[in-house]
Amino acid sequence: MELKKIQEFILKNNIQLSDCTMHTNRKLENNGKIRILVLKGETDAYVEYICPKCGHYCYTKKTWKRPFSIKCENCGKLIRVPRMKTLIKKEIKNY
Ligand SMILES: [Zn+2]
Repeated sequence: MELKKIQEFILKNNIQLSDCTMHTNRKLENNGKIRILVLKGETDAYVEYICPKCGHYCYTKKTWKRPFSIKCENCGKLIRVPRMKTLIKKEIKNY
């Protein structure tokens, strides 16, 4: 399964890198994934993930803070996103 919602959101709203406080796309263990987008001036993060424990897919919003973590709504696993400093800036430019 792929993460598509945030991608669609970025395209639909023509979001540029300069509009973002944070944008990251991580691979997790066991084919889990997480993508986080925080727009400048907003306190909520758009979060899209595939749980590395149970494979559950979810697209949601959560208050942004560092270090960021989110609980899988299905199995309760705490999904952490370490080293947020490593912004993958190329991601948005390449879309
Ligand atoms: Zn889960």
